[in-house]
Amino acid sequence: MNPVITTPAATTVFTTVLTRGPISRTDVSKVTGLSSAAVTRAVKPIMEAGYLDELPYGRRTATGSGRPAAPLAVRADREFFVGVKITATELIAVVTDLRAQVRAAEHLQLAGRDVDTVIAALGQVVGDLVEHPERTHSLGIAISGDVDKAGGVVRYSPFLGWHDVPLARLARRATGLATTIENDVKALTVAEQWFGEGVGAEAFAVVTVGAGIGCGLVVHGVLVEGGYGVAGEIGHVPVADFGPACHCGGRGCVEAIASERAIVAQARAVTGQDRLDMNAVIDLAHQGHPAVCEVFAIAGRAIGRGIAAMVNMFGPEKVVVSGEGLAAYDLFENHIRDAFTPQAFGAAGRCPLVIRPLPFEEWARGAAAVSIQTLFR
Ligand SMILES: [Zn+2]
Repeated sequence: MNPVITTPAATTVFTTVLTRGPISRTDVSKVTGLSSAAVTRAVKPIMEAGYLDELPYGRRTATGSGRPAAPLAVRADREFFVGVKITATELIAVVTDLRAQVRAAEHLQLAGRDVDTVIAALGQVVGDLVEHPERTHSLGIAISGDVDKAGGVVRYSPFLGWHDVPLARLARRATGLATTIENDVKALTVAEQWFGEGVGAEAFAVVTVGAGIGCGLVVHGVLVEGGYGVAGEIGHVPVADFGPACHCGGRGCVEAIASERAIVAQARAVTGQDRLDMNAVIDLAHQGHPAVCEVFAIAGRAIGRGIAAMVNMFGPEKVVVSGEGLAAYDLFENHIRDAFTPQAFGAAGRCPLVIRPLPFEEWARGAAAVSIQTLFR
């Protein structure tokens, strides 16, 4: 598919209509700072390709006089997009319309983590979900780890144990859809930028806690991709000289101290109960078990230091904290804040930490949003 939105101005106008529409050309011009002539020029080819509509009834101007401004809206059913989040145990798949509104969703348990099993499951879930194959051409996949988006290769995904997997090519063969892959936290950050806490923010960050500790960054309104596809990895900021070894090969990383696996391992060590799972660990902490509470305190301080390091360097307006680990968030929230505040330099300490539960469907929606971005050159 050739991109239909080919200039920076067209991208700006389209995303403005997408995230704020229906919206008049005049308001697009106000929001974007583009001249009304530039907005008109940008809109024309997108409208001709059928991606934007002019709604029939506009609002009258404030004085009630003059021609009503016909608002622009994205034509939602012009094209559909599939987004899939891959975890170690399941696929979470959604079909969205062009406005990234979820039309259908499905969870599929994985029988294994090997590449063939995951690809077969991907083919199945896409086959189940797609209702309009003639208008569905693109698939976005969100996966944790070191992802080469441009090359379509998962360089390293710790939870799946994958190295150098050409996922985009394999997924395309299995589904027939043009496939874009992205680091899962970056995909979630795109969803937040378009539809969540990031709307209108020049700079913000999403930090996820759970199986891993991830971070996506938007600076000057643009997702930071990183020169090598890696950026904002606060999970691998070292915060303890003699901390535990991390799966990444480093030592004392935030993730080696504060991921679910790390918390469970430390809770097992301090209680001597080697069968505890995360739910049991959370229960013990809620019952006030002092040593287990201290495990969460240490984890919270590690996350807080990691967030402070990121905030000091990039200066986001806000940090959205999310992830499946929010179930335990009350156990480390105060410790995160206690470590963050003194480490944040000067006014950076004003940066609010906004707690926001985002289910895996939202990550899958982010993957779909990433595939919508392939409409842009
Ligand atoms: Zn690490």
